Amino acid sequence: MCKQCELNPVIILSNSTKGLCKSCFFRYFERKFNRTISQFKLIEPNEKIGVAVSGGKDSLSLLYLLNKIKEKRRFKIEALLVDEGIKGYRDKTIKDAKRFCKELGIKLTIISYKDEFGYTLDQMLKKINIKPCSICGVFRRYLLNKYSIKLEFDKLATGHNLDDEVQTILMNQFRSNQEVSARLGPITGIKDNEKFVRRIKPFYLITEKETTTYAYLKNFNIPFCECPNNTQAYRIEVRNFINNFEQKYHGTKHSIINSFIEILPSLKEKYKNDKEIKSCKQCREPSSKEICQACEIRNKLK
Ligand code: SF4
Ligand code: ZN
Repeated sequence: MCKQCELNPVIILSNSTKGLCKSCFFRYFERKFNRTISQFKLIEPNEKIGVAVSGGKDSLSLLYLLNKIKEKRRFKIEALLVDEGIKGYRDKTIKDAKRFCKELGIKLTIISYKDEFGYTLDQMLKKINIKPCSICGVFRRYLLNKYSIKLEFDKLATGHNLDDEVQTILMNQFRSNQEVSARLGPITGIKDNEKFVRRIKPFYLITEKETTTYAYLKNFNIPFCECPNNTQAYRIEVRNFINNFEQKYHGTKHSIINSFIEILPSLKEKYKNDKEIKSCKQCREPSSKEICQACEIRNKLK
């Protein structure tokens, strides 16, 4: 029975032993989403929020919910999608993203590796010997920031959920990468920095199981589709490890995130970056070195 209204439950929450029925789950999910935005001050009135969409369930659910609350909270949204050029994968998810944005009447801007760097990811992998996710890690971040500034977004929202963040926290812990963890959290970046657009994660306190259930019950009709190049073996191992642990000890993921939120201010203080951000000599985009990482890969492709 649903712990609130005695209807049949559709989900057992991971930090509880009781279930929720469909309408109580929607209420719970949307309340949590709203509370996260308020608690961490993710969005201010009159801001223009970019939403990074991939065409997957998390980013499209995020777009749907931000669209739902934008009038009440008085902000604007636009969607931004990076097309890496991965045949049989991104071409499919782009269709879903286009359909979804059309239905909601949201402007969608698509930027591609092909237009920006001259090659699709598939072509790049034939030219240079580098892990596909390493290229994406650099190029996606680069393009999202560059176009968020061009499109005058005040912030960029991403569909990262609690599971994504817990995995990254543990991976950094296992690899002794605390400096990288200092850049995590529900809101990243520094206010009024004209070189970088701040990132926000409104699903920060919502689990993967919850976002999947939400998209499914809302009938968003987004087929599950996985990138054929996924080389993140370490992340997958950490994910399985945490899921097994969560199954045995309910609430583990929430405990990790709550402890992390507690220590995050001191981590940020310890690793605050006083280094001067220069402009890349080649592309003029912000970089801590003479030549930015994106141009380093771009040069290898020549
Ligand atoms: Fe890029 Fe790796 Fe994600 Fe595929 S799995 S889209 S290669 S980061
Ligand atoms: Zn550059």
